[in-house]
Amino acid sequence: MRQSWRFSGWWVVGGAVIALAGAAAIARQSLDQQRALFETDARIVHRLLSQQVVQHDAILATLALLQPAPVAIGTGSPEQRLPALYPRILSVQRSDAATPWPDPALAEAERLSRLSGRAALAPLDLSSGRYRLVLASAPASYALTIDLQALVPWTEWPMVAETSAVRVELVHAGQRHVVQPGRLQSGTASRFEFHKVVAAESQPFDVVATQTVGWRQWPWARMLAWTLAVVALLAAVRHLQRQRLARRRAEELLRLGQVARLNTLGELAAGMAHELNQPLTAVLANTQAAQRLLDDDPPELATARGAMAQAAAQARRAAEVVGRLRRAVERPDSGGQRQTVDAVEAVRRALYLLEPECQRRSVAPVLEGLPVLSVMADPVALDQIVHNLILNALQALEQVPAAQRRLTLTLRTVADDGELAVADSGPGIAPDVLPRLFEPFFSTREGGLGLGLSLCETLASGMGGSLSAANAATGGAVFRLRLPLANNPA
Ligand code: ADP
Repeated sequence: MRQSWRFSGWWVVGGAVIALAGAAAIARQSLDQQRALFETDARIVHRLLSQQVVQHDAILATLALLQPAPVAIGTGSPEQRLPALYPRILSVQRSDAATPWPDPALAEAERLSRLSGRAALAPLDLSSGRYRLVLASAPASYALTIDLQALVPWTEWPMVAETSAVRVELVHAGQRHVVQPGRLQSGTASRFEFHKVVAAESQPFDVVATQTVGWRQWPWARMLAWTLAVVALLAAVRHLQRQRLARRRAEELLRLGQVARLNTLGELAAGMAHELNQPLTAVLANTQAAQRLLDDDPPELATARGAMAQAAAQARRAAEVVGRLRRAVERPDSGGQRQTVDAVEAVRRALYLLEPECQRRSVAPVLEGLPVLSVMADPVALDQIVHNLILNALQALEQVPAAQRRLTLTLRTVADDGELAVADSGPGIAPDVLPRLFEPFFSTREGGLGLGLSLCETLASGMGGSLSAANAATGGAVFRLRLPLANNPA
C-alpha cells in the first residue's frame, strides 16, 4: 500500500515536472515569436521614418541650388508649392542679406549649418509636434517647418496605430514625440525595447519602440492544452502499466494454480497408492488362504469360498479406486459424481471389507444410530473415507490391550447434515498432533504415509462436507464426517 503510494507520488512529481517544463517552453517560444515580430515592425518603422526624414535634406539642398526668387506667400513660387507636395512640410522660409530671419532661433540654426556644412535643427520643442530645419546657403538660406505627425507614412505602416500594443516615439535631447501610443501595461512579464537613430545626420531623432507583454497575453490556452495532454498521456501509460501488472499477476496465479493442481494430482496418486496397497494385500492374503484350504484333504470348500469372496470384493474395491483416479485426472474439478447415497450402507460395506482386520485385532465394531441416512456424496469417495477412518481406528486400537478395544460407529443428523462418528477406545490424539492431523505426509505411525486423513478431508470438502477430529471425553479419538443430507434442497 505504502509502496504503491510512493509509486503514485513519483508519477505525480514526474508529471508535474514534464507539464511545467513543457508549459515554460511554450511560454518562452511564444515570447520569442512576439519579440521577433516586434523587432521586425520596429525596423520597418525605423526605415520608413529614415526615408521620410532624409528627404528634407534633399529638399533643402534643391532649394539652395535653385535659389528661387522670393515672392508673396500664396502666389505659387516653387518653394511655396512644396507643402502641397509634402503635407508634412508646413512652411518654407527664406532669408538673405536683405531679409533677416524672423526668429533668432533660425539665425542660430543657420550659423550652425554654416559651421557643419549641412542642415541644422533649430532649437526645438517636440511637444508642439513640429520642428524646423535650416540649411545655410548663398545668397539665401532656407528653413522648413515640419509636422511630425504628418511625417509618418501611415499607408506603409506595419501596425494598426489605434490598436497596436507597440509604443513608438521620436526622442531628441530629452524631448519626445509620441508617434503611436501603444498599450503599455503595468505589472508586466516581459518588456521589449528598440532604439535606433534615424539615418539622417541633420535630424538625429532616436526612434524608440517599446512593447510590454502582460501575464494575460501569455499563451495560457496552449499551456493548458499541453498540461492536459501530459496528464492524459501519463494516465494512459499508468493504466497500461497497471494492466500489464494485473495480467502478470493473473498469469502468476494461473501458474500457481497449475502447480497446485499438479501437487493435488501428485498427492492423489500417492493417496491412491496408499489406498491400493491395502486391498491388494487382502486379495493376496485371501487367495493364498483359499489355495491352502483347497489343497487340504478334504478341501475346506466353504471357508475357501468365503476367502475367494473377500478377495473378489477387495479386487473390486481396488478397481474402484483406480477408476476414481482416472476420473479425477480426466475431470479434476468435478469433485466426483454426487448422488444420493445411504451412509449406513457405506459403513456396512466398509465393515464387511474390514471384517478380517477386525477379527485379527479382536475388535467387534458397534453400529449405532439411524438405520438409514441418505446423504449427497460420491459413493466411491464416501467408501474411501469410511474405510480409512475405520482402518485408522483399528490401527489405534492395536496400542491398547485387546480387552479394552471398542469401535463405535454412530450415524445421526446434525442440522442439514448427516454425520458419521467413528469413535475408538484407543490412546486418543496427542495435543501437539491434533492441529497437524490433516496435513499431507504427517504421520506418527512407523511406515505410515500420512496421506489418509489429508485425502479424506479433501474428498469430504469436495463433496460439500467436512471431516473433524477430537478426543472423546471417555478417552480415545472421535472422527466426525459430515455430508449434506440428500433431501435438503440446499
Ligand atoms: P497414516 O498413513 O500415518 O495413517 P493418516 O493420515 O491416516 O496417516 O493419519 C495421520 C496420523 O493421524 C496418524 O499417523 C496418527 O498419528 C493419527 N491418527 C489417525 N487416526 C487416529 C486415531 N483413530 N487415533 C489416534 N490417532 C490417529
